[in-house]
Amino acid sequence: MSSALRYFDEVKSCPHCKENLSICEAPPIHIGDGLGWGSEVLFICLNDSCPIFLNGWEKIEQQYGHHASYRYMELPDSKEKNYMMVGNSDAFKACVIDKEALKSQNKSYQLQKEATEKLKTCVEDKNIAPVIHLLLAEGASRTVRKEAVDYIVPINDLSCIDPLRNHTFKDSALESAVNISINALLKANFKKECPYCSEIIKAQAKKCLHCKEDL
Ligand SMILES: [Zn+2]
Ligand SMILES: [Zn+2]
Repeated sequence: MSSALRYFDEVKSCPHCKENLSICEAPPIHIGDGLGWGSEVLFICLNDSCPIFLNGWEKIEQQYGHHASYRYMELPDSKEKNYMMVGNSDAFKACVIDKEALKSQNKSYQLQKEATEKLKTCVEDKNIAPVIHLLLAEGASRTVRKEAVDYIVPINDLSCIDPLRNHTFKDSALESAVNISINALLKANFKKECPYCSEIIKAQAKKCLHCKEDL
């Protein structure tokens, strides 16, 4: 749906009530003829005071004898008027696309794309930032995140430990791969984490420099 943002450039309004049409995800099946809509979104008037919707109940009751009404609808890039039958006032309201949510989704997608690009040269650049970004991005691709884990030791930057340790991974296999890499990174730098305060200290320390606990 990341391409759906472009639909918000176009503001369509209902010819019956003048309210702006809402943008909804198109249902997979065209109720009328069993074909797809040929569009991933629909513009639809969800105004409960719209005359089309208000008067539709009586019209359909008289014509077809069942309880339903109409919503005014247009397809993107089309001025054609369509009317969609709805069984209740909530129909389509759950699939309204939230522009702000879509924007932030789009933004995180862009940032993940940039980080993935930087991942290619992160070892020679000694740049841990894309590795951290992708490992913290739960929505990023699993393949890319697994690749990022492999760069933790070669980049050799201890600053990645805190953010990674503090992150809740949904993927437990990825989490254990990260932990293995962090332990290898600590070992390569003759460091360990204090079991009491989690600060990074010398591997051979007998007393923690930070919390003063005996180890
Ligand atoms: Zn309307
Ligand atoms: Zn400590």
